[in-house]
Amino acid sequence: MIRLYDLSLEALESLLTEWGYPVFRARQIWRWLYAQKATRFDQMTNLPADLRQQLEAQTTLSALEPVRELASSDGRTVKWLFRLADGQLIESVLMDYADGRRTACISTQAGCAMGCVFCATGQMGFARHLSAGEIVEQAIILARWLEARQERLSNVVLMGMGEPLHNYEAVLEGIHRLNAPEGLGIGQRHITLSTVGLVPQIRRLADEGLQVKLAISLHAASDEERSALLPVNRRWPLAELMDACRYYIDKTDRRVTFEWALIAGENDVPEQAHALGRLLHGLLCHVNLIPLNPTQGYGGSASGSESVARFQAVLSDYGVTSTVRVRRGIDINAGCGQLKAETLRGEA
Ligand code: SAH
Ligand code: SF4
Repeated sequence: MIRLYDLSLEALESLLTEWGYPVFRARQIWRWLYAQKATRFDQMTNLPADLRQQLEAQTTLSALEPVRELASSDGRTVKWLFRLADGQLIESVLMDYADGRRTACISTQAGCAMGCVFCATGQMGFARHLSAGEIVEQAIILARWLEARQERLSNVVLMGMGEPLHNYEAVLEGIHRLNAPEGLGIGQRHITLSTVGLVPQIRRLADEGLQVKLAISLHAASDEERSALLPVNRRWPLAELMDACRYYIDKTDRRVTFEWALIAGENDVPEQAHALGRLLHGLLCHVNLIPLNPTQGYGGSASGSESVARFQAVLSDYGVTSTVRVRRGIDINAGCGQLKAETLRGEA
């Protein structure tokens, strides 16, 4: 079976030509895939019946089967668990914000090879990369869900399961299709890529000439502390990571976001706040503070509000702006990898 969302427009055009149809049929199908977000071939009413039959027989519209869909108690976060054709499970989350943003948080890999100690996905290990189609289809399904409610998907964050820069080619193709006017039409500035800090790929991304937002999962401001939380830091320590971030800022003129999961008594202490302030002072950046989401495989707990406030105050002394991100959908395991972990444990 050919999975239609895995094809580029060019590949779809070649397929149609091979089947003996005029090339413009490819663009018609493309519109059904990305603009109308069709779920069945019989919706594709402007295609000849024999073409619809051939599509039905030889291709598939969807590679993602929803196995669970959970809404948080406040109704503003919805989380999906999808089964892929080979049985792998991935998660996507939709968040709605008071300012009208509708943000899809999507996965780029099944599992993750980076082994960050506090992360439920890292605790599972790496299964495989997702294809560009599997990446994009998550956004399609969430956008379709919104459109059924007269709403529109406005933002996409690559912050679900997996390390996007470890799956570079598929992620870049995915971003292109999320962004393209004949794709989902989401502005590059409304797409955020979050990375644990793969230095060569950050530099490569800087050279792509894109305007996507870059978020760096920092979580610690000394090599010792960071290597203990994020093993990847042993490969690319802070000095190299910060050089790559400066390169990204220089090349793109875009503000970089630093993510910091606040762990009580670990990285929320004044020494770490001062170290972070010194590291980021003068840089075009912003810090997102997220109280840790506790996971099965890690003993740490979330910082209390006093430590969070103290941490923020120190940063502001260094002229570093920060926001405390509200933890969304805690009651539906909306943290990265947590719904899958729970489902595999058979608790729900
Ligand atoms: N692999 C990428 C993107 C996916 S993780 C990355 O690491 O950046 C998305 C974000 O969730 C990262 O900032 C990650 O550090 C954070 N995260 C993972 N587990 C968490 C937890 N238990 N509590 C709070 N944040 C967590
Ligand atoms: Fe992978 Fe990101 Fe989780 Fe680290 S935090 S294990 S890089 S998904």
